[in-house]
Amino acid sequence: MQVYKVGGAVRDRLLGLPVTDVDRVVVGATTEEMLAKGFRPVGADFPVFLHPKTGEEYALARTERKSGRGYGGFTFYASPEVTLEEDLIRRDLTINAMAEDDQLNLTDPYHGQRDLEARILRHVSPAFAEDPLRVLRVARFAARYAGLGFTVADETMDLMRQLSESGELQALTAERSWKEISRALMEDHPQVFIQVLRDCGALKELMPEVDALFGVPQPETHHPEIDTGLHTLSVLEQSALHKQPLTVRWACLLHDLGKGLTPEEEWPRHIAHEHTGLKLIKAVNERFKVPKDCQELALLVGQYHTHGHRALELKASTLLELLQSFDIYRRPQRFEEFISACEMDARGRKGLEQRSYPQADYLRGAAKAAREVAVQPLLEQGFKGPELGEALKRERLKALKAYKEAATA
Ligand code: ATP
Ligand code: MG
Repeated sequence: MQVYKVGGAVRDRLLGLPVTDVDRVVVGATTEEMLAKGFRPVGADFPVFLHPKTGEEYALARTERKSGRGYGGFTFYASPEVTLEEDLIRRDLTINAMAEDDQLNLTDPYHGQRDLEARILRHVSPAFAEDPLRVLRVARFAARYAGLGFTVADETMDLMRQLSESGELQALTAERSWKEISRALMEDHPQVFIQVLRDCGALKELMPEVDALFGVPQPETHHPEIDTGLHTLSVLEQSALHKQPLTVRWACLLHDLGKGLTPEEEWPRHIAHEHTGLKLIKAVNERFKVPKDCQELALLVGQYHTHGHRALELKASTLLELLQSFDIYRRPQRFEEFISACEMDARGRKGLEQRSYPQADYLRGAAKAAREVAVQPLLEQGFKGPELGEALKRERLKALKAYKEAATA
């Protein structure tokens, strides 16, 4: 049997990037031979094994054929007769379809190295269209390598467009889609992921609520970029520049969904978009079975981002309600993430990327003031149960009034 490194490990080594996870393909072996060597089988569906010592992945060379809708609709065929070239042709992109042996001899039948040098993301064969997930994967690689100058080949975009129009994207499971979306959002240029999906018509299929923001105007005074879709891309871009976590990036993407529902006669104003957007944010969250922390932050940022921007003008009582909504006493981190998302929203505007955002420290100070109100004296005064809660609220309100006066004096 022969063993080759394949996929990302070869690609990233040739790009001079650090290689983290290594995938290997084994040619000329049977499952029985692998087991006899101590390899542990991974799943029932795929002929994939883990190395007994290193734990790295070794897959038997295989071919695959589409036999139905969705990802379940694939028939795999692994046997010692399957050649390296046959295994490589089922892969998504030419730059992912190269293999190398221990001596770093490259097997590159589909010209991945040429495309790597030309900075092109190109599909390997027409079989690309058999798995709609590849649309998301290509957009994700575009987001990852945009800084190196990579773009998607025209003919690959054509295939992605056909796949999007066919409705096949609807057959993707929430889990597979979210895995790609979440990884793409954590790349250096997550806005490129959304842009590529939009350009091939996939955004309309996957997140019509986000797609609908393009072409919707906002007041130029606050939004020199005017277009809500462009604004959303800029906010996402800022979130990556500022190394924000996934929760914040997800909230950035969804924060303005309500603006897509504003009747045209009200444009460019979007009264109460914070409220109208909530059901859309909820729908997108549920569609992809998004993790709870991302779901929650997106809803809170959607509802309260304007409060964040107006922090210095908020009455002490409104400020208190805001802090209570975030449960800052038990969830301090979540409020920090809210503040970050608001800041990204403020900076994700044309020409305003470097602006200062005093609201952030003001909100932090307010949270601190409310948190510092001690319970003990109230207990000593004999407050219990709901009355204790009310007394605590009164004290916090007092503290916030004092804080506001001192901070804005
Ligand atoms: P990463 O750096 O994100 O791990 P990768 O290219 O190694 O990038 P993996 O998801 O680890 O991506 O997959 C390994 C290889 O398997 C890919 O390079 C590609 O050749 C192939 N591959 C994975 N998923 C698909 C798919 N859905 N369709 C076609 N080929 C795929
Ligand atoms: Mg990999």
